[in-house]
Amino acid sequence: MRWPEGKSFAFTVFDDTDLSRPGNYEPVYELLHERGMRTTKSVWPATGAGTEARSAEGSTCDDPEYLKYVLGLQARGFEIGYHNSYHTGLHRTQIAQALDRFRSLFGHDPDSMSNHAMSLEGIYWGEARLSPPLSTAYRHIWARNRACVHQGHWENSPYFWGDLCKQRIRYVRNFVFGKTDTLAACPWMPYHDAARPYVNAWFAASHAQHCSHFLDVLSERNQDALEASGGACIVYTHFAADFVDGRGQLHPKARALIERLSRKNGWFVPVRELLDHIVAQRGLVELSAAARTSLEWRWLAHKVLVGAG
Ligand SMILES: [Zn+2]
Repeated sequence: MRWPEGKSFAFTVFDDTDLSRPGNYEPVYELLHERGMRTTKSVWPATGAGTEARSAEGSTCDDPEYLKYVLGLQARGFEIGYHNSYHTGLHRTQIAQALDRFRSLFGHDPDSMSNHAMSLEGIYWGEARLSPPLSTAYRHIWARNRACVHQGHWENSPYFWGDLCKQRIRYVRNFVFGKTDTLAACPWMPYHDAARPYVNAWFAASHAQHCSHFLDVLSERNQDALEASGGACIVYTHFAADFVDGRGQLHPKARALIERLSRKNGWFVPVRELLDHIVAQRGLVELSAAARTSLEWRWLAHKVLVGAG
């Protein structure tokens, strides 16, 4: 893959908004901005009955202080992505309203999204990420997840919004892996999967659930290997998960690693821009059965080992 502006590799982050409330994530963005790195921050845009603007789960776009900061990020060139309408999952009418609200707040439909782990409106999520017989294995291993059956793609469910996803959202995140070079772990991304037709294009990510995982994924050695490979890294993480301490200070090692990476000749753009560039170079890949099998097996192995993602 050739990167624009003579850059030797590409790097970005999709920040899952879980736990994010005013005061517990902003220093990461201040550093990224200072270092000229633009990434993607997701939001919950739902409003109305059954939603809470600020809770232990995190803030929604109904939290004025949170929204003001997020709009400021967009103005500074960060991408605002979608993380389902809300953390509990809402019915179709409220999902449609949430997507309209996203559009009115940010000026366009979401370009990228990720499913929230335990949201009833999750699309092709939980065991539906996998094909038989792996989906059956998943159901047995994570039987507790049956309390939340993701229904965004079930046409007869009140949580169905597959058609809206197809009309309005371009890229959806699926499999995560431990490798720092996401493109090496999933050389087909972004790809279309005919078995999951309500999603236009899927992308993979490098898994960094919390700050400690982020420190591993972006270790000095892994940064150097990414630069040498010329690949692309899309980190999936939660910037509200231990990056910032109770005094509002950014984790010193996270700061040092981000600063180190920023000094390399990388292309530091949001998820949409990175994926659009790959599509412009070679078109959107139609996922083959063999590639799907490879992704599903490797992801399931990763999930069994790491337990999340
Ligand atoms: Zn989440």
